[in-house]
Amino acid sequence: MNPPSLIAFDFDGVICDGLIEYFETAWQAYCQLFQPDETTPPNGLDQRFYPLRPVIETGWEMPVLVAALVKGAEDQQIIDDWPEMALPYLEAENLTKEQSVQTLDGVRDQKIQSDLQSWLNLHRFYPGVIDRLKTLLDSDLPIYIVSTKEGRFIQALLAQSGVDFPSDRIFGKEVKRPKYETLRLLKEKHSVENIWFIEDRLPALRAVAEQGDLDKVQLFLADWGYNLEGDRATATQDDRIHLLSLQQVVQPFDQWI
Ligand SMILES: [Mg+2]
Repeated sequence: MNPPSLIAFDFDGVICDGLIEYFETAWQAYCQLFQPDETTPPNGLDQRFYPLRPVIETGWEMPVLVAALVKGAEDQQIIDDWPEMALPYLEAENLTKEQSVQTLDGVRDQKIQSDLQSWLNLHRFYPGVIDRLKTLLDSDLPIYIVSTKEGRFIQALLAQSGVDFPSDRIFGKEVKRPKYETLRLLKEKHSVENIWFIEDRLPALRAVAEQGDLDKVQLFLADWGYNLEGDRATATQDDRIHLLSLQQVVQPFDQWI
């Protein structure tokens, strides 16, 4: 296995652990949407929310997951049936997906505008990953971040950990295109085939695997990120996708596959 000619990392769930921020934002959006009597989260609700985070595909589901937990849904039921379960919680309150996501974005925007530092402080980095990024930035290997988070926030989060990540190496939400399109663009820009892409969401990796012209891209599912046991089991069966651990990601590339 040749080492990569270019490497691209997803951000949330690969480099950055944003679970505390997710829960806080989701809880506040839930309170605005569902108007509960109690606006302080019940003890331990955050700890139930964190491992269930992978069931969420899009933002509108975040406050709904809080609602489901508050209203007594079982964790296993959520893992098994979330796509069918989610919408009825909104419908029962005459709410729409649009209202849910707008409320969520509003809560987040407000936090960022009123106190950016407090918002940044709600994020953590996975052990060893920051040092690995620094080493890679100092090497000749082109390194990119391909994310659905706003690039400027990614840069601010990395900066507070002492990583000066060039803004032209970050492709965030603002580029408004699927991750496989960004990989295709990088492939052409650098004239490379052997791209390694590290991502914690199985559907995003699958979408790359479906692109015939990206067949040389090595796909890694970050097993420490926002995915479920079932996703990791699927990845081990899939001959395009490699399961990667936090122990491996900090090691030389010959230990990755
Ligand atoms: Mg991710």
